[in-house]
Amino acid sequence: MANIGFIGLGNMGGPMAANLLHAGHTIKAFDLVPAALQELAGKGALACAAAAEAVVGVDVVISMLPASVHVERLYLGDEGILAAMDSSTLVIDCSTIAAASAQKVSAAASARGITMLDAPVSGGVGGAVGGTLTFIVGGTAEGLQRATPILEAMGKNIFHAGDAGAGQVAKICNNMLLSVLMTGTAEALQLGVDSGLDPAVLAEIMRKSSGGNWALEVYNPYPGVMAGVPAARDYEGGFLVDLMIKDLGLATEAALARGSATPMGSLARNLYVSHAKAGFGRKDFSSIQVSFQGAAKKPA
Ligand code: NAD
Repeated sequence: MANIGFIGLGNMGGPMAANLLHAGHTIKAFDLVPAALQELAGKGALACAAAAEAVVGVDVVISMLPASVHVERLYLGDEGILAAMDSSTLVIDCSTIAAASAQKVSAAASARGITMLDAPVSGGVGGAVGGTLTFIVGGTAEGLQRATPILEAMGKNIFHAGDAGAGQVAKICNNMLLSVLMTGTAEALQLGVDSGLDPAVLAEIMRKSSGGNWALEVYNPYPGVMAGVPAARDYEGGFLVDLMIKDLGLATEAALARGSATPMGSLARNLYVSHAKAGFGRKDFSSIQVSFQGAAKKPA
């Protein structure tokens, strides 16, 4: 069992850390929000007063923060936690951030002899709670080998995407595709409903036909079609529109940097930005369905 420093105990990090405790690992934890820290302390973690305190005397450091700026600020500079760590520490950043940021922090870690992996996740809060996340890892094979027993306590699937930053690239490619599938599915369902079809019947036809996709299989955006999904609870919980916009922004930045054409991703990003401006930023991303409702014209 490992001694782990865990930083960032939000919607994802809190349950991920709880699963590590459950598996028998020891945790020194830190979050800026005292309530999040106290909740994990109640499950057996040692609550630390600062991030630098949580990374001392541990084998592995895991971070789960919102965005690039938070990760760079946490690790880099004189006040950064890399400076407080032993060179034998393995660092696993699970946040979804820019590949360039992941590479920058990884290079700074390497310069101190520290192995760092970027390991963003797929599977949402349900996957974090259930310990069924997918980890998409960038970094060395040797680092991944060391990380595997730790990641297995929090997830089911572990993929090695390539060198430092590759995990982040694969993650944003996946989320860009997901946004395109979700908006396209919502648009098609609304066209059917506006034309008089039952959304459940249409969803089943498309699921079994050439339009079948993940949203139709397990995450139908149309209310009343599927139980247990955000559409069944007024789009509460799940993966926030604001976080999808962040990921689509990362995809846009990567496309600009590489000269890639991502017209579908750009359109999806614009649809989601308008949707957030309409007040849906804190709702699940399948709520994009609502933006298509009301646009229909009844046939004369
Ligand atoms: P969240 O906002 O719920 O949690 C982030 C936590 O980090 C907060 O508790 C915050 O207080 C803490 N934090 C921020 N800066 C800190 C610092 N310097 N030191 C200590 N703690 C700090 O976010 P989340 O939903 O847990 O998402 C975390 C990451 O996982 C994001 O990059 C997100 O894109 C990604 N992700 C989220 C989901 C999801 O469904 N929520 C799914 C896959 C990936």
